[in-house]
Amino acid sequence: MPSRADLHTHSTYSDGVLTPRELVDLAYRRGVRILALTDHDTTDGLPEALAASRSYPDLLLIPGVEMSTDVPGNEVHILGYFMDWQDVAFQRELARLRDSRVTRARRMVDKLAELGMPVSWERVLQIAGDGAVGRPHIARAMVEAGYVQSVNEAFERYIGRRGPAYVEREKLTPVEVVQLLQRFGGLTVLAHPRELMDQLDSLLPPLKEAGLTGMEVYYQDYGPEEIETLLGWARRFGLLPLGGSDYHGLGGPQQREPGDIPLPEEPVQELLELARARGRLLPS
Ligand code: AMP
Ligand code: ZN
Ligand code: FE
Ligand code: FE
Repeated sequence: MPSRADLHTHSTYSDGVLTPRELVDLAYRRGVRILALTDHDTTDGLPEALAASRSYPDLLLIPGVEMSTDVPGNEVHILGYFMDWQDVAFQRELARLRDSRVTRARRMVDKLAELGMPVSWERVLQIAGDGAVGRPHIARAMVEAGYVQSVNEAFERYIGRRGPAYVEREKLTPVEVVQLLQRFGGLTVLAHPRELMDQLDSLLPPLKEAGLTGMEVYYQDYGPEEIETLLGWARRFGLLPLGGSDYHGLGGPQQREPGDIPLPEEPVQELLELARARGRLLPS
């Protein structure tokens, strides 16, 4: 049985392949009744997602965002839920972060050309469409040009963090992003922490101090042992154990369908309680 909540999904407004409406329809069909749209550094898909969710009176659509941040040697993603996304000051911050995506993607395309794999910048932008441009769009252009067989291969060989065409992007720190989201009433969750496991010791105390609410524990291919370890960290720091599919619709070995990651009911309800307490969710 698909679970009722999926708190991590992407649409065409970042690097997912489904429009917000298609995503909402698919998630609902698969049994999801609490869905967060968490596009990278943009909330532009939310009006369409919210409109689509109105076709389903028993579906709660949580306005969300996934923000990229940096710590030395690693990338950290922070999920924000229920923030006042329509606030102009918040939108200004997001726009600034998206600008840095464009500059960086452009430099990666230059590097690919230097490596003998020219892809058209116009084509990358076309693939990105309305979305915040990202590496998956470059990867798709590379597949089209025949340099690699799959998006995954593009990451593994060229544009992954250690790949020869990788370029760092200017980002905020995780604490700055938690503070930013909190300033606009948002609740924050540390995304996919498996790759950060040996840094959690130093990462979590300042994040908790800044107001972090939860951490993803149930995610894609995380197995029982990883879940157990992450649950331990969540307990130690008083974080809600949450998660989701991180659905992009790109296929690939780790990808899951919306609703395919069962979440325990209790932390999800606690998240909603916190949102209610902040006046970010109508009483049910
Ligand atoms: P960016 O935000 O431009 O740095 O791109 C990072 C995004 O690329 C991640 O959030 C994932 O959605 C996606 N990604 C990372 N690794 C892979 C991979 N191996 N295959 C497909 N997509 C990936
Ligand atoms: Zn993504
Ligand atoms: Fe992420
Ligand atoms: Fe994601």
